[in-house]
Formats: sequence, structure tokens, C-alpha cells
Amino acid sequence: MTRTEREGLIRIRSLRRYGGWIPVVGLGLALLATLTKNEILPIVVFGLTACIGGVLNTWYAFVRCPRCGSPFIALRGRGGFRWPTSKCRQCGLDMKELNVA
Ligand SMILES: [Zn+2]
Repeated sequence: MTRTEREGLIRIRSLRRYGGWIPVVGLGLALLATLTKNEILPIVVFGLTACIGGVLNTWYAFVRCPRCGSPFIALRGRGGFRWPTSKCRQCGLDMKELNVA
């Protein structure tokens, strides 16, 4: 694995992790914010974190593979249907290889 591939996989893994966890943390913070007397704060906190998570997940959905340059999670021949995976759908570059070296 080249350095470029490794850095690309780390970026893809970060997008997937943060895109999934930021809205969950935001929901927790919004629930905590309901303890305050401010009625707008929970809505703002959850709305903001959901938007950030949405942007990161959209970015993840269209990210390109660092090895082959094809869309990392798009299925070939199915209209570009996207489904989360740890492997590139085109060349098989696997995020699990990051933990080996
Ligand atoms: Zn690839």
C-alpha cells in the first residue's frame, strides 16, 4: 500500500466515523439541553450536528478511491447505487489493511 492510498483510506474512514457519530452525540447534547429553560437550544444543537453529519455522509457517499479513482462505495452497473462498505467496490482496496501495517 502506497502512502497516498493509506492517507486516502484514513480520510475515508474518518468521514464514515464522524458522519455517523456527530449526529448521535448531537442528539445526546440536545437531550441534555432540554434540561435548560431555553426552548430553542435543543433544536439548534441537534439541527446543527445533523447538518454537519449530513454533509460528512454526503461527502463519504461520493468519495473516490485513492487507488483506482472510482467512487469508493458505488456499485458498478446498478446506477451508481451507494451502500457503506469497508472495501472499494471496483478494485477491492480494503480499509482493514490500515490495521495490518
Ligand atoms: Zn478502488
